[in-house]
Amino acid sequence: MILHPTFKENSVIFSSPSLQSFKDQFMGDIVTPDHPDYEVAIQRWAKNAVRRANIVVFVKDANDASLAVKYARESGLPLAIRGGGHNPAGASSSEGIVVDLSRYVNECCVDPGKRLAYVGGGAVWKTVDETAIEYGLATAGGTINHTGVGGLTLGGGFGWLAAAHGLVVDNLIQPHIYMIPFHNGPVEEGRKVFKAFLDLCPVDTTGEVQYEQMNGLQNDKVPHGRDYYFEGVVQKRYSASIAKKVDNNLIEVEITDFYSPFQGKVNSVADNAMAFNLRGAESNIFTITAWDDDSQEAAARGKEATYAVTDTVSSSEGRIVGSKRSYGNYIGDEKLNAERLKRTFGDNYPRLQQIKKKYDPDVLFSKWFQIVPA
Ligand SMILES: Cc1cc2nc3c(=O)[nH]c(=O)nc-3n(C[C@H](O)[C@H](O)[C@H](O)COP(=O)(O)OP(=O)(O)OC[C@H]3O[C@@H](n4cnc5c(N)ncnc54)[C@H](O)[C@@H]3O)c2cc1C
Repeated sequence: MILHPTFKENSVIFSSPSLQSFKDQFMGDIVTPDHPDYEVAIQRWAKNAVRRANIVVFVKDANDASLAVKYARESGLPLAIRGGGHNPAGASSSEGIVVDLSRYVNECCVDPGKRLAYVGGGAVWKTVDETAIEYGLATAGGTINHTGVGGLTLGGGFGWLAAAHGLVVDNLIQPHIYMIPFHNGPVEEGRKVFKAFLDLCPVDTTGEVQYEQMNGLQNDKVPHGRDYYFEGVVQKRYSASIAKKVDNNLIEVEITDFYSPFQGKVNSVADNAMAFNLRGAESNIFTITAWDDDSQEAAARGKEATYAVTDTVSSSEGRIVGSKRSYGNYIGDEKLNAERLKRTFGDNYPRLQQIKKKYDPDVLFSKWFQIVPA
């Protein structure tokens, strides 16, 4: 291992033989703190997830990625991989090296004959939706389309089509994504399905929205560049009045539970087929808190408010607070303790531990879900 005595000062030792040989072979862009792109390169969806990286490398292909990981291992720099950059705890940020897929590995191309999409690990869902719809196709994906394909898929991934077509991970063949025909039906058909509701004479704003537009409708509620924290909880019942109990003097609390994504086709896959462990959950409540004052006090209050909501939700059915279950991709904590890890992955956890032992025994990939090798 090469020691980096100046690591804390955010400067890279260019005379390091390992860095020099990495630079000689690397085809993508290397951005260090003195580079004009640096401030943009370390930006994340959540302002509070920004970390002042020692070096950001924008990989062009698999060979670049492998060189970067090798360099991280040799240099001893902490490593993070960045997909869409939406983790508020900084799981895709690092004060060491960031392997960033978003600049070059961000494309999507579709083979309509095979109904397959080939998607780069740094793409966002907007790119997938807009490319697929050109062929009259759509795939299971996120409901806010500036989120990343990489991170969302790793946690399971649900969207509007989940009940009919399963989770993103269920539609993934390494490294391809299956496509499904997109046709939810004409307006009149939809009106018949929702007749009972429409008969109540609500303000009727029904109309046709294209799938690729629908996934962008909520984007403005959660723009890039604010401070964020989030947490999820699954529960049978949920009352909106819970939100009122939370002191949101300094922060804004956004709660969504728009439908139950873990039903239907999602349940046709065995519980132990993937790491994902929430099939059959009846609700999926996502609490996002946002604030703009960068102080530690505001961050602490943001977290507190988020927990207040999720704890209240999980205790509303008599469950013990602290034993709540949540969708892995909605966990905002930077590191999960052993108990929370086991709760998140359930009976699948020991198998993940074995996989970790086989492929990453030294825990080089140590962000967020830090699986302990078996
Ligand atoms: C506003 C908002 C809306 C959301 N809506 C949904 C939703 O509708 N459905 C849903 O299922 N989830 C949803 N989520 C949760 C979302 O799935 C997670 O936040 C997810 O981790 C975001 O992925 P990312 O690639 O954007 O994030 P990043 O911060 O880039 O990555 C998150 C984690 O995944 C890793 N990672 C990312 N890409 C790769 C890759 N290609 N290879 C290896 N590791 C990678 C990173 O290292 C990091 O540990 C939402 C989140 C937000 C903030």
